[in-house]
Amino acid sequence: MTQEFRTGIGYDLHRLELNRKLIIGGVEIPFEKGLAGHSDADILMHAITDALLGAASLGDIGELFPPSDQQWKDADSEVFLQHAQELVAGYSFRIVNVDAVVVLERPKLLPHRRAIQKNLARILKIDAERIGLKAKTSEGVGPCGRGEAAEAHAVVSLVRESAAQLM
Ligand code: MG
Repeated sequence: MTQEFRTGIGYDLHRLELNRKLIIGGVEIPFEKGLAGHSDADILMHAITDALLGAASLGDIGELFPPSDQQWKDADSEVFLQHAQELVAGYSFRIVNVDAVVVLERPKLLPHRRAIQKNLARILKIDAERIGLKAKTSEGVGPCGRGEAAEAHAVVSLVRESAAQLM
């Protein structure tokens, strides 16, 4: 049996605006502002989707779900992540682990971490223990620090097993 390992990286940023829901990892977090974008602007799902696609060299989220396409307007980003999971599984890749950082000045993400991990685990069909999630602030500087935006970074590891070739 031979094992092929892959790693992918993903990044996303969306503006924080009034009259939008704040949805991170599919979990709605009560706050006065939310992430603005064509879809539900879930930075964490977008970053993980890109990391999955990147690890398997399957393009990126913008290519698969163009913002110009009306069918993705206000879309639940679970659709994107689910599609990426199905694509990599279709190429016989298994997700080893996911690790992510969310940069958000306010509100605190930590109270929602477990719910986010569980939701992502359900979509990715892996144990929640395989999903790392950290929350960072930006020390009051830059767009995230001023509360104008939030961003997410993610890495994903994949493994693909294949029977060793008979000589
Ligand atoms: Mg995005």
